[in-house]
Amino acid sequence: MRFPLSLTASMSKYIAGRRIRGAQKFPLVMMLEPLHACNLTCTGCGRIREYADTIREKLTVEQCLNALDECGAPVVSICGGEPMIYPDLGRLVSEIIARKKHIYLCTNGMFICKRLHEFKPTSRLFFNVHLDGLEKTHDLCVERDGVFKEAIEGIKAAKAAGFLVCTNTTIFRETDLREIRELFKYLSTLNVDGFMISPAYSYAAVQTKEIFMPRSEIREKFREARKLLGEFKLMTSPIYLEFLSGEREMMCTAWGNPTFNPRGWKGPCYLMTDAHHATFKDLIEKTPWEKYGHGRDPRCQDCMVHAGYEPSAVLGANRKFGDSWKLLKWQLSNP
Ligand code: SF4
Repeated sequence: MRFPLSLTASMSKYIAGRRIRGAQKFPLVMMLEPLHACNLTCTGCGRIREYADTIREKLTVEQCLNALDECGAPVVSICGGEPMIYPDLGRLVSEIIARKKHIYLCTNGMFICKRLHEFKPTSRLFFNVHLDGLEKTHDLCVERDGVFKEAIEGIKAAKAAGFLVCTNTTIFRETDLREIRELFKYLSTLNVDGFMISPAYSYAAVQTKEIFMPRSEIREKFREARKLLGEFKLMTSPIYLEFLSGEREMMCTAWGNPTFNPRGWKGPCYLMTDAHHATFKDLIEKTPWEKYGHGRDPRCQDCMVHAGYEPSAVLGANRKFGDSWKLLKWQLSNP
C-alpha cells in the first residue's frame, strides 16, 4: 500500500461528505507555514525572498489550529520556512493529530535527530525530507556542505524510532535522473516509505529563473522520470504524473491546496500572491478563480505545480471515467 489505510479512508469519507453536501470548492491538503524563517538559503526557494520583510514572524499554535478548523482539510502539509525550527512544533503536531488529521512534516532534515523526542510514531505523521540528489548535488542545491549527511542521519533516526518517512525531490532542468534513481535505490535500503517528485516551478519571487523549466521541458523530463523511477514507491499520483508528462490536460484547482501563513490565507495559490485573506471563506469567495490557470493568466503559463494540479485528479473538471479505479489500484500496489 502506498499510503496508510487511515489516510485513504479519511480522505474518501471527507470527499464523499463534501460532494453529498454539494460543496464546489473544498480543500484536500492545507499548506501550513507557521513561519518563513529557515536555516538554509536554497537556490530554488521563493519563500525566504518573498517574505523577507516578515521572516521573523510566526503563527501561534492557536492561529494554526483555528485556520485548520476553519478550512477542514483532512491532510496538513507543515512547511515554511523550516518547520523544525518552530518552537512549538511538538504541540502543534500532537494537536493536529488529536483532530484525526494526517500530517506531512516537510523538512530539510537537519534537526530531526535533535527534536525527534517531541513526536510519537503514528500512521498519521510522515516526515517528508527534501533531497534533490546525492550528497554533492544536494549540498550544492541547498548551498551548504554537510546538509545531505545530516538529513540522512535524521532519516535513519526516524526510521529506527518507528516513524514513517518519505522524501521530496525537486526535478530541475539540470537534474540527472539517473542520479535520482541512485538516490532512490540508496533511500530504499534505509526503508524510506515513499518518494515524491515534483517539477521546479517559477516563483515570481525567485531570481534564478534559468533553473526553471517551461512546460515542454517539464513534459520531456517527466516522461523520462516515469521510465527511470517507475519501479520505486512513488507517492506522486499517477494521474498527476500523466499530466506532467503531457499525456493529459488538467485545469488548475489551487483551492484544493490552500496556503496559510503569518500574513493570512495566500491567494490565489502556493506560488503566486495577489492578496492575503483574513479568513478561508474570504479566500474562496473573493478570489476570481476563473482568471487563473494556464491560458488565462500569463504568470500561470508554465505552471504545473503539485499545489495547483495534483488535487485536480480528484477535484478537477478533467477527471476521466476510470480515474478512481486507477487511483485505487495504485494505492493498493506496493512496488
Ligand atoms: S496555474 Fe494555478 S497553481 Fe499555478 S500559478 Fe496559476 S493559479 Fe497558481
